[in-house]
Amino acid sequence: MSSTCRGELVRAALFHTPRNPFRESDALEFWSDGGLLIRDGHVSGCGGYTELRDGNPDVPVTDLRGGFLLPGLIDTHIHFPQLRALGGLGLSLLDWLEQSALPEESRMSDVSHACRIARSFVQALASHGTTTALVFGAHFAPATASLFEAAETAGLRIIAGQVLSDRLLRPELHQTPERAWRESTSLIERFHGRGRLLCAVTPRFALSASEAILEVCQTLLREHPGVRFQTHLNEDCREIAEVARLFPWAADYLAVYERFGFCQKNAVMAHDVHPTSSELERLAASGAAVAYCPCSNAALGSGLFPLRRHVNAGVRCALGTDVGGGTGFGLLKEGLQAYLLQRISPDGMLLSAGHLLYLATLAGAEALGLSAETGDFRLGKSADFVYLSPHANSPLAAVLERVEEPGRQLAAIFTLAGQESVTEVRVGGETVYRKAAKEQ
Ligand SMILES: [Zn+2]
Repeated sequence: MSSTCRGELVRAALFHTPRNPFRESDALEFWSDGGLLIRDGHVSGCGGYTELRDGNPDVPVTDLRGGFLLPGLIDTHIHFPQLRALGGLGLSLLDWLEQSALPEESRMSDVSHACRIARSFVQALASHGTTTALVFGAHFAPATASLFEAAETAGLRIIAGQVLSDRLLRPELHQTPERAWRESTSLIERFHGRGRLLCAVTPRFALSASEAILEVCQTLLREHPGVRFQTHLNEDCREIAEVARLFPWAADYLAVYERFGFCQKNAVMAHDVHPTSSELERLAASGAAVAYCPCSNAALGSGLFPLRRHVNAGVRCALGTDVGGGTGFGLLKEGLQAYLLQRISPDGMLLSAGHLLYLATLAGAEALGLSAETGDFRLGKSADFVYLSPHANSPLAAVLERVEEPGRQLAAIFTLAGQESVTEVRVGGETVYRKAAKEQ
């Protein structure tokens, strides 16, 4: 039930990270018998259930004991047209694009196909507990509009943009600079700030963008303050060499984007697997964030993400699934993969469950300029949450029966909870996904 004027008190074990665990030692907060008080779609209280109930005796209680509430998960890098490219293993980035991803991107010229994929895409986000996502739309404006419309119908918080390119992909995916400006302007005017939707200027990557189209992106950002920015950076060694060849005037990959004013707060650069120290310093100074996509980095063989170097340089990082280069929509799985790869990286960081939760929630909100709205359960934020309940007789249920220490419980959730554990998901207190009763 949505929150009414009297509000609603949701009772369950509850985790959130209202602080950054890379900087503060007590970032993870937990209540084994917790309460989330929701009024008008916003968090009006978060803490121990008994205290909240005693202070609000008239508020109806939704009893969800037996499971866990986490803030809604936030995906900072994902491609809508690539839903059906998932599982294309065995290739590196440029070959994978050519053989697996771009054929799917081309099919987005068919609007009815795009509408169908858009509905599946937003359903997949919600059913994995993702309430907010920064999404690469399609190269085609009508298909990108279908994503916004599906997200609006589903009630999700989506930031997206038409993907802009004018070379080296396939002719049907290229726009002229004039068309790119006209179609993107129309999408921004139609969708930016409409309900929970926001727009992002989205050049695919420097490799497929001439200076003329990058200038269009710069113009769009200047003409529409508040619009976000997303692209790819330093993902794969062959890609980086090709960008260096195409932009001989640029000292490095990031310098291409700097030239057009893209490095700024609320910009998200996907991957950055192979940065120079200078690029990290400049990224940190600009306030731009990096989307860390560990499943994709491993699946495409792009490399081991240097998380410690990013953190030490002061670059903000958050998780992305990178569907379809990645391995699916699950941000819990992405968190586990980050843990695993950092564990075996030569200079890896030992990540706690609190780090993983932060990277999957508040870090994403900070990267997207949405930390006043979502990312944790502090007072006044939107009541965005995922409710996870372990299946009876599952390994997760067995572990949670034995383990009481909160960090250990959360680690078990990241290790063992998948889509099957996602039981209810809300945005602004409104249900955007509820598992059918027979599945529970
Ligand atoms: Zn990507």
